[in-house]
Amino acid sequence: MPKSEKAKKHTHRLRNTLLIILAGIAALGALWAPLTESVLLGFTYVGGGLPYYWTGNYKKQLNDSGFYANNTKDALPQTALYYIVTDFFAEPLPEGKTVKKVLVVGHDGAQAGGFLQAKEGVSAALALKEGGGAAYAMYAGGPWLHPQITVTACGWSALETGEWSYQTGVTANGVTKPADSKHTFFTQLTENGTIAKSVFLTSWDGHFTADDATLKNELVYDAENGLNTNWVQCGSDEETVEKTLQEIALPDCAGLIFPILEYCDHAGHAYGQSMQIAEYKRGFAESDAQALKLINAVKARPTYQTEDWLILMTSDHGGCGKGHGVWLFSTERQVFLISSRPLDWEKYVQSPWKA
Ligand SMILES: [Zn+2]
Repeated sequence: MPKSEKAKKHTHRLRNTLLIILAGIAALGALWAPLTESVLLGFTYVGGGLPYYWTGNYKKQLNDSGFYANNTKDALPQTALYYIVTDFFAEPLPEGKTVKKVLVVGHDGAQAGGFLQAKEGVSAALALKEGGGAAYAMYAGGPWLHPQITVTACGWSALETGEWSYQTGVTANGVTKPADSKHTFFTQLTENGTIAKSVFLTSWDGHFTADDATLKNELVYDAENGLNTNWVQCGSDEETVEKTLQEIALPDCAGLIFPILEYCDHAGHAYGQSMQIAEYKRGFAESDAQALKLINAVKARPTYQTEDWLILMTSDHGGCGKGHGVWLFSTERQVFLISSRPLDWEKYVQSPWKA
């Protein structure tokens, strides 16, 4: 056979193999769309992120550090945040306390491994732990039977509603939660009278400001029903911190205060999501330090002694390379829940196989 014929055959064989692979992905996609989405997203990361996200024993590092009270095998699902907050409000008031309040500090794009490098005196996480609290391993990206992409809207929706994407319909950024889906705890707790007011502060416009924002429908519902939910769009993290401090300083501050800081996410997208990258490390430390300011402000309230506060910190997703979205990689999936008090965490663990 002439050489060119041979080369032609080779090209054909290559093309056929490629077609079979693509057909395979398409068939899998029809059966299990999130898997395909993750595989395709995974390919897009290979160029920029390979050196950083394949971190080998990431989970082992987390478990060996002793930072987290639970093993990553028993990581809490993100949906647990909703139940931990609503359960806290449902418990009776301890003696000598007159009111329950919750502060949740969200660290967008913060991965669980970040706290292993936290420094005393400037870390909210360490301050919460030393003050009698605890840290728990948590996972993003949904259970294995219902995987969801590790992006901002999906993560925060799970945390705020107690439901995964396949239940809320928030399957990506830019997808508005349907009007008839479960409301977030901001709306629920205000509507059922548990709290008089809730405040959600953020500089990412995808939560409730943009045309395709996640909570667009919920804002309409709250306005129609005259609910005292407050959606505060900030221009920067500094403004988010400033406005949160102003809220905390009010004598009758909201029962649920929930700021989200973007330091980690911004540093991750610009420089790469890894604590081996100086800029990400700096962003992470900044987020943690700003959270400490907020916690100290809560403790400085003149009425603090008679109030029953639960302070929590969590994250929507980690990352790999300069992005995030896949649910296969530990650096994306492993997030955290840090609490000002020990939690009955085993109650909130679910099989990673089911919802
Ligand atoms: Zn995010």
